[in-house]
Amino acid sequence: MIVGVHPLAGFDKLLHYRVPEGLRAHMQVGSLVRVPIVNRMHLGIVGAIGAPSDFPADRLKNVVELLHPFPALTPDLLSLARWMAAYYACGLDAIIETMLPASVRNGAGLKTERQLSLVRRLDVPELETLNRRAPQQAKLYAFLAQQFKPQRKTLVLSRLGITAAVSNALVKRGIIREDERRIERVAYADDWAAGEIVAALPPALNTEQRAASDAMAAALKEGTFGVSLLHGITGSGKTEIYLHAIHDALEAGGGVIFLVPEVALTPQTVARLRGRLEALIPQHGAVVWHSHLSDGERLDGWLALATGEKRIVVGARSAIFAPVQNLRLIVVDEEHEPAYKQDETPRYHGRDVAVMRAKLAGAHCLLGSATPSLESFLNAQNGRYRLLQLTQRIDSRKLPDIDIVDMRIEIMRARGLTTLSRRLVDAMRDRHEKREQTILFINRRGYSSSMLCSECGHVESCEHCSIAMTYHRHDERLRCHLCGAERPAPVRCPKCGSIKIRWRGLGTQRVEEAVKRVLPHARIERMDTDAMTKKNRFREVLAQFRAGKIDVLVGTQMIGKGLDFPNVTLVGLVDADISMHVPDFRANERTFQLLVQVAGRAGRGDRAGEVVVQTFTPQADAIQFSRHADYAGFAAGELKVRQDFRYPPYRHLIQHVFRGPNPEKLQFFAEQWARKVEQALGNLVELRGPAPSPIEKIKDEYRYQLWYFTAQVTKVVAELTKLRAEFAWPDDMIQVIDVDPVSLM
Ligand code: ADP
Ligand code: ZN
Ligand code: ZN
Repeated sequence: MIVGVHPLAGFDKLLHYRVPEGLRAHMQVGSLVRVPIVNRMHLGIVGAIGAPSDFPADRLKNVVELLHPFPALTPDLLSLARWMAAYYACGLDAIIETMLPASVRNGAGLKTERQLSLVRRLDVPELETLNRRAPQQAKLYAFLAQQFKPQRKTLVLSRLGITAAVSNALVKRGIIREDERRIERVAYADDWAAGEIVAALPPALNTEQRAASDAMAAALKEGTFGVSLLHGITGSGKTEIYLHAIHDALEAGGGVIFLVPEVALTPQTVARLRGRLEALIPQHGAVVWHSHLSDGERLDGWLALATGEKRIVVGARSAIFAPVQNLRLIVVDEEHEPAYKQDETPRYHGRDVAVMRAKLAGAHCLLGSATPSLESFLNAQNGRYRLLQLTQRIDSRKLPDIDIVDMRIEIMRARGLTTLSRRLVDAMRDRHEKREQTILFINRRGYSSSMLCSECGHVESCEHCSIAMTYHRHDERLRCHLCGAERPAPVRCPKCGSIKIRWRGLGTQRVEEAVKRVLPHARIERMDTDAMTKKNRFREVLAQFRAGKIDVLVGTQMIGKGLDFPNVTLVGLVDADISMHVPDFRANERTFQLLVQVAGRAGRGDRAGEVVVQTFTPQADAIQFSRHADYAGFAAGELKVRQDFRYPPYRHLIQHVFRGPNPEKLQFFAEQWARKVEQALGNLVELRGPAPSPIEKIKDEYRYQLWYFTAQVTKVVAELTKLRAEFAWPDDMIQVIDVDPVSLM
């Protein structure tokens, strides 16, 4: 038997080895093996079975070890790895490394513990003898005789101050026994679920939910690949649809992957899901998968899935690579979230990889959101995805009213810039008196280098690209980072002539101070990445907020995800339009998503909620359509713009970023390269740039970027990879290819 192995040794190649007799029984495609390369050992994944054509088989070395009797990469995962390598312009070895948790790659084994328990009780004379002859053994016996469950050996020995020789003696005499047991570490088992109200019994579905759930049941019964997009407004009960589908898939003997954007930010979703799953189907307790697991925890979870002991995993993006057996269903909650994109190599998109894995595994993929990405929505319109809709909130609760506050008027009134409008201050005071809670959001995607006129709300944008121009302070010019167009920065607003052209975002700290001034007696907490660096701080603040110990919570939209606080009756968005000035063609989409999601946080209990949105551009589509959460209206207009400019989702975008210490050199090589691509691939791609990146310098490194628009990603990536290898790049230049980027900075 000969196998081809993809070694995890820092290069992308298939090497062949012979399999000795003793390792053959469980050797298969996807197996994790240890092999010699030159004179070192490396782990690798079996990619093929069979002899190489170009190397005499009798000169091959042997596989040294087979780490598990089951494949570390299921067949669908191995195919997925190959697709990802070709699509995301990345070596297969890097993909395989991403797919396997570090603890698995390190070749660690099962984590076990030894336990002691009583086998038989001694009668009185026996006990007396033991007491007399071996008092330490008697002590251990007495302890174990009082326990109902087996006890951890290490703990017992240290607690009683005895050695292993003592327990060994009792084992030998058949009085106690020692067992080896796998340790289960269940992340968040106690603390994360604390304080969550978990309905033991599922609620009866309403008519819309039933229709969506029936459609899912039918889709799952087909047992073939398919994608459904669940578009349900905030509070419409999407989670119930997920739960029913999960239940069906498990009952049919299948496995399930449930993805959330960030586990740490969605503790409620995870806790609810776990609670319900455990109540519904106790034997399938879910594996929770996220970046803060210890190696041991992750390994345990991975093994439980790989051996089929557990069949469901809940986690962030990388859970899509969990070795779930007989995969039938993948759920992607909040599928529009940019957090699904990994911003380092391999730069994959969790949602897109989920759809591809479902395809390769013949499973169903369920994407859910209140504000689907236009990519997914267009697929639903084309009939490629099944569209399921929930248009009503549970119990027909109303969506909160949204007040749009025109900050231009506010500034005239206040005779200067203000952070908080009168409307928002009044509403906050009112809540404070009623002992109800307020959340204030600040845009995280703040981008200080765009120009916004605070008289008329005008933003300078590029006529070729329909994105905001970027202000460059050092030479006082505006640039389009997409096509490179540039002109002097105006001193007066080109539209209204005002000199109040500003470029500045608000920090959470400033907003917190402003709140303190108007509500001196309120208890205020700030929640942003700066304030949350301390571990567990996030959970602490959330717990305090839930307990009513905080009146006003100020934070970036990281606090907006999937949280459900019944006593929050006011939500304010302080700077709605900041995200519209980001030089990105998705700026409007992001703003609309933000507004709708934020509004969904208000009035989730019995009381009606109110939302106050402050903006300089009240007439903008993203703001107007969000007032009534009119997704269809927004999507229709926005898709039209995308189609006119042939932006995604009508074509794919590949972003090529060049970085280096010398801007002239960077520009020179980027231009040379662009010329070469134009010659070779001009018929496959449309190039834009190269141009300086909107953030043109990070940590003394200059950045240039080049964009390729194309309908055929894999083909273009293959060609680019070839060209890239032939091109004479200077040593001090780094270049990165990002396929389907979500951030264009
Ligand atoms: P979404 O994810 O769509 O915003 P959720 O799934 O969080 O909405 O549901 C909102 C609330 O409604 C939750 O507290 C949930 O338990 C409850 N709920 C969902 N479906 C029903 C139902 N059919 N009957 C009663 N309550 C429901
Ligand atoms: Zn103006
Ligand atoms: Zn332009």
